[in-house]
Amino acid sequence: MWNILGHETAINYLQKHSQPGNTRHAYLITGPGGVGRETLALAFVKALNCQNPPSEGQFCDRCLACRQINELRYPDLMILRINEGSKDLKIDQIREMQQTLSLAPYQSNYRIVLIPNFQNATIGASNALLKSLEEPPSRALLILTADAKESLLETISSRCEVLRLRPSSIQELERYLVEEKTIENQLAKRLAHLAAGRVGRALTLYENPGELEAYDEALDDLAQLLQSNLRGRLQYIEKRQAKKTASREKFVFLVATWLSFWRDVMITRENARVPIVNLKQSDLVREIAALIDSNQVETILKLHEQSLGQLDVNVNPRLVIENLLLQLPVTR
Ligand SMILES: [Zn+2]
Repeated sequence: MWNILGHETAINYLQKHSQPGNTRHAYLITGPGGVGRETLALAFVKALNCQNPPSEGQFCDRCLACRQINELRYPDLMILRINEGSKDLKIDQIREMQQTLSLAPYQSNYRIVLIPNFQNATIGASNALLKSLEEPPSRALLILTADAKESLLETISSRCEVLRLRPSSIQELERYLVEEKTIENQLAKRLAHLAAGRVGRALTLYENPGELEAYDEALDDLAQLLQSNLRGRLQYIEKRQAKKTASREKFVFLVATWLSFWRDVMITRENARVPIVNLKQSDLVREIAALIDSNQVETILKLHEQSLGQLDVNVNPRLVIENLLLQLPVTR
């Protein structure tokens, strides 16, 4: 048992590929962030290297190799991430990694490199990686993850075994959180909705209650702002801006959270058979959905997406939020 929620097809596939003679040089695991791409990649690495596998394609999770992999300190596994403070994976990082990849492994059959979120590689870094895919060193194993196959160069994805992961259903995730993680029912339900079926996202939220609180706070703010006049809204921005902890990331979080709320309003308005994300605020969602029409919601959604785009290219956060708030309807 790999003890992973969902992804049966991908698990079966990787279990077969962990057997001698079946392993390829490159894998690409795609799916939305938090769906479990890295967990699956690491399970594959364990299945490849477990010293005491209970049966074919399985791992024990207890031997030295399994433990070292769990703790991300297995000598033949390198995880290549974007440097802190940087937005993309750079060509120098790929070149350096290629040096490592060409060395013989210490103890494994493979020298393994995992590169999460390869959609964030620069075009230079992508082209540099191609070399490792076209002429892989004999005992090299590359595992990439990305949001979608389409966000990588076709020349890269076509040289990988591609596995596509989808989120679980909300109910499936909820049950998993209750049964396997012994999370209390109400909270499990809320986490499953907030994570939209992505198990990794749900567990991250669970482990960081501060993030859940920040969510609630952002939506409480929105509820108040919708009832405020322009002066009240400008005051709000001033207060946020003056906070010691104010940062671009905080504003991005704020807008992204509000965006999730407006999506819920849209879903509710259209009676779409899609679960809403902000279960705890469902009353407010219904209330607002009854007050405004579809065109308005659509405009508001676009406005939030534009704002996120502007924050991404370093437009002054204050101007972005100001512009956003002044265009929201007053629902008093
Ligand atoms: Zn093991």
